Amino acid sequence: MNLELHNKVIFITGGARGIGAAITQACAREGALAVIFDRDKEAASALQLELSKEGLRSEAVVIDLTNSSLLQTTIENLSAKLGRIDGLVNNAGTNDGVGLQNGSPERFRSSVQENLVHYFTMAHAALPMLKKAGGSIVNIASKVAVTGQGGTSGYAAAKAAILGLTIEWAVELDPFGIRVNAVVPAEVLTPQYEDWVKGFPNSEQVLRDIVSSIPLGERFTEADEIASTVLFLLSPKAVGINGRHLFVDGGYVHLDRRLTKAAH
Ligand code: NAP
Repeated sequence: MNLELHNKVIFITGGARGIGAAITQACAREGALAVIFDRDKEAASALQLELSKEGLRSEAVVIDLTNSSLLQTTIENLSAKLGRIDGLVNNAGTNDGVGLQNGSPERFRSSVQENLVHYFTMAHAALPMLKKAGGSIVNIASKVAVTGQGGTSGYAAAKAAILGLTIEWAVELDPFGIRVNAVVPAEVLTPQYEDWVKGFPNSEQVLRDIVSSIPLGERFTEADEIASTVLFLLSPKAVGINGRHLFVDGGYVHLDRRLTKAAH
């Protein structure tokens, strides 16, 4: 299927590593100009080098997304330079474990800042160009928004808010032909996820337990599989989908646990 993303300009936050990197690669391979927004300079440069070896285009903005005023100015300058923005993928986030019992109001506020506020800032700043293009926004949420995890109040609040904002923006931006959808991952073995698992003394067993509870093939969902759904939602082929939450999780959230070995 031709996704008609050739020469489109797509912004991807957290686009240098993990799920974001897979989205960056997939966009570039469709012939789009992928613009990475990430604070990890080394990872962004390595990914750009890899893409350029394939003859593919990308741009990187090394930035801390929590710096709202710098983010706003940077997007204004990029809008002037590139002349268009066709897609925005709000993806950067960190499951930072700020819980009710171990956290504080200050750490909760900073977790929400880290995980939520830049989704708004990116959409707000990119909006004039997205309106011109009749573009598409994809927000990456998390299954934690609907299942909880325990011990991660800030992240859970931010991810649940992202699901709410997806519907809110779909309504507000409908008159401009801008579609807004969310992709909800669970259990993707990214650098962040690997660091989290390493924090357990019995990390190998924890990995085995998680995998055995994922219905589809009892395996982790691949970052590429998240990226495929994101690209479809960005493309005009998904014109009928607006304000939806798409779970790309191997059935982890919704399917009957009797499907998995963990239940036997
Ligand atoms: P990852 O491996 O940590 O990659 C995220 C990238 O975004 C990193 O390069 C990170 O830099 C960057 N980043 C994060 N916050 C940033 C900020 N404020 N400013 C600039 N760059 C920032 O994460 P991932 O696992 O791919 O997760 C991507 C998204 O999917 C997140 O929103 C996450 O909540 C969601 N998700 C993931 C899973 C999963 O199983 N992996 C499940 C559900 C939802 P640093 O390395 O410096 O932090």
